[in-house]
Amino acid sequence: MSTATHPVLPHVTNFVGTPRKMLIDGQWVAAQSGKTFETYNPATGEVLARVAEGDMADVDLAVRAARRAFEDGPWGTMTASARAKLLWRLADLIDAHTDELAQLESLDNGKPVGVAKVADVPLAAELFRYMAGWCTKLDGATLSLSVPYLPGSQFHAYTRREPVGVVGQIIPWNFPLLMAAWKLGPALATGNTVVLKPAEQTPLTALRLAELFEEAGFPNGVVNVVPGYGETAGAALVAHPGVDKIAFTGSTEVGKLIVKAAAGNLKKVTLELGGKSPNVVFADSDVDAAIAGAANAIFFNHGQCCCAGSRLFVEQSIFDRVVEGVAAAAKKMVIGHGMDPGNHMGPLVSQEQLDRVTGFLESGREQGANFVTGGKRHGTTGYFVEPTVMTNTRDDMKVIQEEIFGPVVAAIPFRDVDAVVKQANNSVYGLAAGIWTKDVSKAHRLAGRLRAGTVWVNCYNVFDASMPFGGYKQSGWGREMGKEALELYTETKAVCIQI
Ligand code: ADP
Repeated sequence: MSTATHPVLPHVTNFVGTPRKMLIDGQWVAAQSGKTFETYNPATGEVLARVAEGDMADVDLAVRAARRAFEDGPWGTMTASARAKLLWRLADLIDAHTDELAQLESLDNGKPVGVAKVADVPLAAELFRYMAGWCTKLDGATLSLSVPYLPGSQFHAYTRREPVGVVGQIIPWNFPLLMAAWKLGPALATGNTVVLKPAEQTPLTALRLAELFEEAGFPNGVVNVVPGYGETAGAALVAHPGVDKIAFTGSTEVGKLIVKAAAGNLKKVTLELGGKSPNVVFADSDVDAAIAGAANAIFFNHGQCCCAGSRLFVEQSIFDRVVEGVAAAAKKMVIGHGMDPGNHMGPLVSQEQLDRVTGFLESGREQGANFVTGGKRHGTTGYFVEPTVMTNTRDDMKVIQEEIFGPVVAAIPFRDVDAVVKQANNSVYGLAAGIWTKDVSKAHRLAGRLRAGTVWVNCYNVFDASMPFGGYKQSGWGREMGKEALELYTETKAVCIQI
């Protein structure tokens, strides 16, 4: 393990060294309770920063501020073009602070700083730019009415797209800045106001982003950020009667709790939840590209991706070659502190995740899985796990049924297309899938048969602000990004005028 770390920017040292407050109604304030919580550097397990711990009282203040900003503030009467300019300005500010945001993300989440710099941060900026473009294009339609019981009457009828109102957004720790962008971008482009609760493990980039929102000139109360725990601040936001919609990304288990808790005022709910995504490699693929793609599908972000390609189906005739190739890629990965630019894989985010992933490894071992490589914790400090390739699994094993959320892939041989489609779809999840083949017809046919919100062909983990992302089955409700996301942040109003 390499231990050398990149010098931390003075700005970043200062940011983590100062107790962080929360943003409510344009003011940086302490929690009403005065409580704070600690966030840890997962590479060392040491305290990284101290953050105000929001709870019900803070959430209530934030929701009220968001309501005022929605109903009375300049936000509601701002032109679409002015809204777009603010979002564009924010994107430029993100770009201008790329190094700083990438370092904060690496320190708080553990991911390699180089990855945050080329993926998380620019994708966040691009998301806001893409959504800025939609502000001026949220059109309704004119309708041709022929009301049968009012003969001779004439009408002018049309639809308007209007914001849903006050939106509560709850995000996870795997891509803290990017998930904030996926949530905030469409909500703001469509004119909503927001209370965002970042994950307790990784609140720092959302708090820095909140400062950039202020700098960009968003009116007070349009974006409020309340850090805190899920069971307290998160639950208070979901239950709050003043919230019109909850957008959540996280575990399927918590997603189900949210659906129940949202019933009180029947707030709208969108959910982006877990996955157990199949990645299917055919013998007629570019096998070397498929091997590299399969390794990326599971090891990117240390497997802490809801769309991770964790079930690798490989056609029997090339099974050994692909398994050896992915295992070789795993062995080559340099594991260590995310701030060392030479490292490919950082730690998992927390002790809890380390325990969870090593627990799955143990269960796989007990149920008879074979570990081609990896299979245990890496080192003794920090939350590192070895990238792991398993074979000899069965569909009823815990490691095949459940989401591990770590760098652990099960390679499974298959003999024909129908069999692999059945097995690939044999999951309660349906977030993403991968197909590797040079046969274009086969790829299109299979893309139609796999029950997943995204199907990647001859690639994996390709994201773009224009491409909707979300799940079938228990992987969620609704879509993020693309124009599909905008529909979920607007209400359609029909206006009917007798003329
Ligand atoms: P993980 O298990 O990977 O940490 P979670 O689904 O628990 O994923 O967390 C995702 C987000 O949901 C975090 O911001 C967390 O604080 C929040 N959360 C957890 N439990 C609840 C809850 N009961 N109500 C609302 N939000 C919650």
